[in-house]
Amino acid sequence: MKVLLVYPPFCTPTILPYSLASLKHFLQTNLNLEIDVLDLNAEFHKRKFAQYYKTIKETKTKEDYAEIFTHFDKESREVYAKNNREVLQGKNPEYFQEIFSLIKTEDYDIIACSLVYNSQCFYATAILKELQKQGIICLLGGPAAKGKVLEYGKLLKNEHEIIEFFTEKGIQAKQGDFYDSNNPLDFSDFKEENYLSKERIFPIKTSSTCFYKQCTFCTHFAKVPYKEYEIAWLENTLKINNAKYVFLIDDMLTKERLMAFAQISQNKIQWACQLRPTPDILGISKELYAGGLRSVSWGVESGSQRILDLMKKGTDIQKVPKVLKESHEAGIQNILYIMFAFPTETKEEFMETINFLEKNQAYIDLVCTSIFGLQHGAKAFESPQDYGIIEIKEKQRTVLEGSITYKIKQGLNNEEARVLQKKVQHRIDKINKIPKVFKCSREQTLLYQ
Ligand code: SF4
Repeated sequence: MKVLLVYPPFCTPTILPYSLASLKHFLQTNLNLEIDVLDLNAEFHKRKFAQYYKTIKETKTKEDYAEIFTHFDKESREVYAKNNREVLQGKNPEYFQEIFSLIKTEDYDIIACSLVYNSQCFYATAILKELQKQGIICLLGGPAAKGKVLEYGKLLKNEHEIIEFFTEKGIQAKQGDFYDSNNPLDFSDFKEENYLSKERIFPIKTSSTCFYKQCTFCTHFAKVPYKEYEIAWLENTLKINNAKYVFLIDDMLTKERLMAFAQISQNKIQWACQLRPTPDILGISKELYAGGLRSVSWGVESGSQRILDLMKKGTDIQKVPKVLKESHEAGIQNILYIMFAFPTETKEEFMETINFLEKNQAYIDLVCTSIFGLQHGAKAFESPQDYGIIEIKEKQRTVLEGSITYKIKQGLNNEEARVLQKKVQHRIDKINKIPKVFKCSREQTLLYQ
């Protein structure tokens, strides 16, 4: 049986698609299938933004590099919005015939569509509709496989369901090991010229999920047992791909894992990761820098201890500056995630966060802000009464899963937080040393050094 894995437009084409590489690896390891992959997102961008692909390779300074991304960001947002509108009106999006013809439906028994971002669901709808018309079996998977797209394919939620689906179709299962060091993750399907980046940046996951799993707003960790992948497997994965730049997409890493990765990277690889600013990681920043760590995205979230406790972030705001200072002094970029309008946050607590950022601005390179949103699966959704959340409603949307609205008993609502943020945005912007365009492609900060 021949299967094609596709990754539909739109998401930023600046990093290789981890979901396609790991899904192919999983299928090849566990089932007797012939598998091809097709990054249609990269194919779309290569056609639509050819000029950016050309100039990005020729840039000499980091300022020029950022400028190209700034223009690309503005233009691409308009292109995505226009195309999504076309899909909503029942029309085909740009390059549809050309992009669809790359699928070569006659060569495959099954097409599997990987949806990681909501922004992929519009173009995916157009592709899936056409595949359905042609009677092709479509499978869907990934965190954004929700809402209208489910009408056009069969959703497989986890590895168990994938194996079951294929074995029921008579495909023989294999006793492979995804993390066997002799079976490294291979990114060779993804050609360098298809990605909008001066260098190839590899997304690598070193563990199955976040080991902390407690933040009450969070839905993005996988609900599976925490498992650390073999160092030898990681080492071979880096080696066979000749990786020079790596973005560790783990939600969290332990101190021991950071040290282990620094050791195998031996400064031949420059890498970035995401962490909580807890004091247990103090004392290793210099060694991590020597082992290639160049950028950390810190889940700081708030400058108010009451809000951090309500979020169950497990951090102490008094100790966060020390963590940031040590990392900064070691030469590592500090990118901070900040979340406004967590339920019950007051105006004073909002301003505590702004004051925290300003007070520690010497150690901060970029601030990435968001406004809290209630999502299925988050602890705040499951026990809304603990957060003063009332009147939860779900509004149907045309393509995406329904959006959740709610009211709060006290504190700033999202609109009030937005207005307040607008007023203080100039103060946040002043803190940034890295251009804010890199908020949407944080892995690119590895090349802005
Ligand atoms: S926000 Fe990060 S640290 Fe907290 S539970 Fe989610 S993944 Fe884990």
